[in-house]
Amino acid sequence: MAIRNVRTEGDDILRKKSRVVEKFDRRLWDLLDDMGDTLAQQNGVGLAGVQVGALRRVFIIDVGDENGVIEFVNPEILEQSGSQRVLEGCLSFPGQWGMVTRPDHVKIRAQDRRGRWFERVGEGLMAQAMVHEYGHLDGHAFKEDPTFTPVSEEELEAMTAGEG
Ligand SMILES: [Zn+2]
Repeated sequence: MAIRNVRTEGDDILRKKSRVVEKFDRRLWDLLDDMGDTLAQQNGVGLAGVQVGALRRVFIIDVGDENGVIEFVNPEILEQSGSQRVLEGCLSFPGQWGMVTRPDHVKIRAQDRRGRWFERVGEGLMAQAMVHEYGHLDGHAFKEDPTFTPVSEEELEAMTAGEG
């Protein structure tokens, strides 16, 4: 188990395009294991390889349901539809929040850690996270989304008041 350092705003690596994964070996599994540990430690929903300094087309998502951590290697978005206006943050932009418009239905084709292809449909938070994480693989940050509007700390507190 290892926690990796999360790269944050100002680190040029976040703007780079990640490379296709070709080897499904111990190095990849170590990366995915460490990403899982890092995501859990940070209480995040999703994490892309580039965010821990690995420019490879991988991300993981854990929306806190019974599925646990889902690993996506070499993902491709096959379909997206609908829209939802949602509050969003990013582990690489700590303390920064905003509202973005995301599809509410997304279908992805990806490989698992052994190279087997699968398809997965996400809705709601899962769809939001899929699109957010996919953006990281091409060097995009959520704040650059044309639909992004920032939410201040005060507004955020007002929005989440009552959630305990
Ligand atoms: Zn992010």
